[in-house]
Amino acid sequence: MKISIDKYAGFCWGVVRAIEFAEQELERTEKVFSLGDVIHNAAEVARLNNLGLETVSVNDFDKLEKGSKILIRAHGEPPSTYFEAMNKGLEIIDATCPVVTKVQERIKKFVDKEYQVVIFGKKDHAEVIGLNGVTNNSAIIIHSLEEALEKIDLRKPTVLFSQTTMDKQEFAKIADALKEKVEELIVSTMEEEAIDFHAKDTICGQVSGREKKLREYAKSNDVIIFIAGRKSSNGKVLYNIAKEENSKTFFVETKDEIEYSWFENAETVGITGATSTPHWQMNEVKNILEEKFN
Ligand code: SF4
Repeated sequence: MKISIDKYAGFCWGVVRAIEFAEQELERTEKVFSLGDVIHNAAEVARLNNLGLETVSVNDFDKLEKGSKILIRAHGEPPSTYFEAMNKGLEIIDATCPVVTKVQERIKKFVDKEYQVVIFGKKDHAEVIGLNGVTNNSAIIIHSLEEALEKIDLRKPTVLFSQTTMDKQEFAKIADALKEKVEELIVSTMEEEAIDFHAKDTICGQVSGREKKLREYAKSNDVIIFIAGRKSSNGKVLYNIAKEENSKTFFVETKDEIEYSWFENAETVGITGATSTPHWQMNEVKNILEEKFN
């Protein structure tokens, strides 16, 4: 059986950067507090916990000693978190992904111009909570065209953003339909300050660029093992893409969920994952399969 690891899988650079921030700080300090899990991957969170990274929420700020170090993860936080931390005398280590920071800055520009801000995303997702915070929680968060048409005032000047990890095609469909309905609609891009963006949305190139390669990879293997945390929104999007191309795509959070019956008659097995899946986890699965089948 030929077992490979998808060379395009693994952490995006925003997550690599956040983990490096945490690791560097933990070389100097015994304890760092991460606001929410630094990554949607239980195994990697456990590894970092062992190094001294503890997950907390804003509600825990009162319990922390003055001067404690708070890591803001790649998803970013609303402005209120920074004020709260400052008021409590906590030190912020800001690992917000620069791509997310750019989107926050763009939103702020439109808030200042009094646009109706619409964000295509998941309302409970940390990144969206941060983006909405920039609008003083006045943004309209939508997940479908129907929801958009229900909530948007079609006569107001409106700007449409996307959470950075949403599906590009779905966003384009919603944007196209809204252009027909809203009197003045701007679909926000990052064109002028492009870091990693496609021209017509604020979806991260690290996510959308992977889709095509993942489709090819899924098609070229008999079985695909997709490893990701169940909380990872990017994991869900990418898993569904792989599954569309190869019905024998199986989602696991850890190596223990693997069932050997999945590999019956398989000659090629591909191991892949989300932008939050560490390489050591993919290697672990590869080693287990090699031991069992080769
Ligand atoms: S997926 Fe993109 S926006 Fe999100 S953390 Fe990674 S690099 Fe940043």
